[in-house]
Amino acid sequence: MAPTLAQELRIHIIGGGMGGMGSALALAKQGYTDIHVWESAREIGEVGAGINITPNLSRILDGWGVLHIAKDEAVALDGASVLNCAKDEVLTSVNFDYIEKEFGYPFFVVHRSALQKCLVTGAKESGRVKLHLGKLVKEWDFDNNRFSVVDRSADGEIQWIDADVILAADGVKSKARTAMLARKGEEDHVQDTGQAAYRIIVKRSMINEDPDLVPFFTGSHSYRWIGEKRHIIVGFNALRGDLTT
Ligand SMILES: Cc1cc2nc3c(=O)[nH]c(=O)nc-3n(C[C@H](O)[C@H](O)[C@H](O)COP(=O)(O)OP(=O)(O)OC[C@H]3O[C@@H](n4cnc5c(N)ncnc54)[C@H](O)[C@@H]3O)c2cc1C
Repeated sequence: MAPTLAQELRIHIIGGGMGGMGSALALAKQGYTDIHVWESAREIGEVGAGINITPNLSRILDGWGVLHIAKDEAVALDGASVLNCAKDEVLTSVNFDYIEKEFGYPFFVVHRSALQKCLVTGAKESGRVKLHLGKLVKEWDFDNNRFSVVDRSADGEIQWIDADVILAADGVKSKARTAMLARKGEEDHVQDTGQAAYRIIVKRSMINEDPDLVPFFTGSHSYRWIGEKRHIIVGFNALRGDLTT
C-alpha cells in the first residue's frame, strides 16, 4: 500500500538515545517513511550502565520485533533485596518469579548499550530511518521549521535541514528545550540538587577474586543499600558475560 501524505512527512529527530531511537522505530513501524535521526556522537558506543527492562517495555520491544536482540545480552533477575546501609541488614526481599507469570515477561536488566543496539538495529532494518552520526545540532529556527547541523568530522561544516516535524530527544541537558523556552521569553533553569551519582562497571573475573563480593554476584539477584543521603545499587549486565555494575 502506498504511504499516505502524513506518512511521507520529513520527520527529524534530534538525539539517537533511548527516546530518539525508540521514537524513530515506533514511527517506522507506523508506516512513516522519511525519518532522520541526528546524533552528535560519532558512534553508538557503550555509554551508560545497567538499565531495567520491565515487562511493559519487553512487550513493546517484542511488538517491534527487537526484544530478542536485547535479550541476548540481558539477565533475568530472580529477585531484589533492599539493605540498610549502616547495618548491612536486609530490610526486605522480593522474589520476581511472579513477574513473568503475571505479566508475560521476566524482569530483565541489560547494559544501556544493548537496549540502544536493539532500537538502532530495528530502526535500520526498517529501511525507513536514516541515522546521521557525528552531527551536532547547533541552532534552532522554529519559525521556519529548520535547524542547523555541524558535521563533527568535516571541519565543522554547517548544514541547514528543513523538516516537517522536529522531535527533540536530546536528553536531560537538552539545548532544544533551552531554545524553545527562550522563544517564549523564559529561561531554562537547571537546579543543582547538590547530589551526585557515580557508576562503576566491574569485570566478573575481578569480583571472583574477592570473597566478600562473590555472594552478591552469585545467581541473578539485585541488591541495593539505602541510607541517609546514600543509595547504592548493584545490578547485572550480561554484556559479553563478564561485566556487572
Ligand atoms: C547508570 C544509569 C542507569 C539507568 N537506569 C535506568 C533504568 O533502570 N531505567 C530507566 O528507565 N532509566 C534508567 N536510566 C536513565 C535512562 O538512561 C535515561 O532516562 C534515558 O537514557 C533518557 O533517554 P533520552 O533519549 O531522553 O536521552 P539519552 O538517552 O541521554 O539520549 C540523548 C541523545 O541526544 C544526543 N544529543 C544531545 N544533544 C545533541 C545535539 N545538540 N545534537 C545531536 N545529538 C545530541 C546525545 O548524544 C544522546 O545520544 C539510567 C541512567 C543511567 C546513567
